[in-house]
Amino acid sequence: QDYLARIAALNPKLNAFITVDAEKTLAEARAADAARAAGTAGLLTGVPVAHKDIFCAEGWKTSCGSKMLDNFVAPYDATVITNAKAAGLVTLGRANMDEFAMGSSNENSFYGAVKNPWDLNAVPGGSSGGSAAAVAAGLAPFATGTDTGGSIRQPASFCGITGIKPTYGVVSRYGMIAYASSLDQGGAFAHTAEDCALLLNVMAGFDDKDSTSLEHAKEDYTRDLNQPLAGVKVGLPREYFAEGLAGDVAAAIEAAVTELKKLGATVVDVSLPNTKLAIPSYYVIAPAEASSNLSRFDGVRYGHRAADYDGLADMYEKTRAEGFGWEVKRRILTGTYVLSHGYYDAYYLQAQKIRRIIANDFVAAFKDCDVILGPVAPTTAWNLGEKSDDPVAMYLADIYTLGVNLAGLPALSIPVGFGSNGRPVGLQIIGNYLGEAKMLNVAHQFQ
Ligand code: GLN
Repeated sequence: QDYLARIAALNPKLNAFITVDAEKTLAEARAADAARAAGTAGLLTGVPVAHKDIFCAEGWKTSCGSKMLDNFVAPYDATVITNAKAAGLVTLGRANMDEFAMGSSNENSFYGAVKNPWDLNAVPGGSSGGSAAAVAAGLAPFATGTDTGGSIRQPASFCGITGIKPTYGVVSRYGMIAYASSLDQGGAFAHTAEDCALLLNVMAGFDDKDSTSLEHAKEDYTRDLNQPLAGVKVGLPREYFAEGLAGDVAAAIEAAVTELKKLGATVVDVSLPNTKLAIPSYYVIAPAEASSNLSRFDGVRYGHRAADYDGLADMYEKTRAEGFGWEVKRRILTGTYVLSHGYYDAYYLQAQKIRRIIANDFVAAFKDCDVILGPVAPTTAWNLGEKSDDPVAMYLADIYTLGVNLAGLPALSIPVGFGSNGRPVGLQIIGNYLGEAKMLNVAHQFQ
């Protein structure tokens, strides 16, 4: 009830939630109370959570931030939702997001931009901006999100909270609306690494309904939180501290590195020489997959359908013209182009080769260190509207997050200070494959 009251008071300013349904929330809360009374409650029974509006939840509108799904009530639960319910978490509502998770500022939502709780003139980051803003403003202690190219880490960084994107395949994609399937990965937002570990414990696990789910035994992500950092090797990729990184962000990261050294970590230089190629590679592969994934929104089976049309082809055209926003259309066009006959080899195949090279760079770097540290984004949160007319400027701001998704690695963001404009700075900690517990250990010791 406290959280619902806070949402009622602050959401009109922040626009962090698309859907709130107090009756549903209170029904789940009563079930949690009953479990507690019956002695069947688990560690997190009754703890509220906000779900990104990308996870299908039975009986809840699941819009994915799009007009296309504005009338869509999901008929089944995503595995993430099933797991959250099984743990007794109480759904607070559905968090705002960039349309189909495409964006870095949460200005691409059909439901309007989300505001950054630290400064209402600033973007919260994207695409999981509603989830991050909700936790930062105390509208939820936990939130779920997805990260295809940075959409958990970057809004966590811009909103001064903690967010973790696990190794590709750790969290099931079943019922999570697909953007770029080979990159999409669900993950957790909370104030601290410890809380993120607790939420990830609930979300993660093998799922035979997702063909790319990792067959990997359930782990306890809190297990190494209290390990000392003596002997831990931290790699600083020189390409992450080069031209393009704002001075105030660099200063906050360097101060954090100094603290980690005091805690006993050793710092080594590493190199990720193809960092710059992550942007062209990602912005070919992600739109290619999106153009295929989004072909299902055709007005036939569910979602928006144009009111007036003349035959089937016209119905498709009008439905998609009306249902999708500009950024989604741009991605579908780019994706269709790079996959088309005559361009496939020049763009898509080339991007896939670069993807492998980038993954190999990380493999080489992890021979010399346990975790890799760097900025999440080149600057702190920018102003609302500042980049919304310049898609390339927006894409360039993803430089430090995309490589992790191309390689399938786990990474998180923790708050480490403020920029010269008073907006939060996040430190990115990148782990080796299935190195979540180590990353969380470093983050927790720091926090
Ligand atoms: N900003 C990136 C994009 O627009 C990443 C989004 C995401 O991770 N969902 O594709």
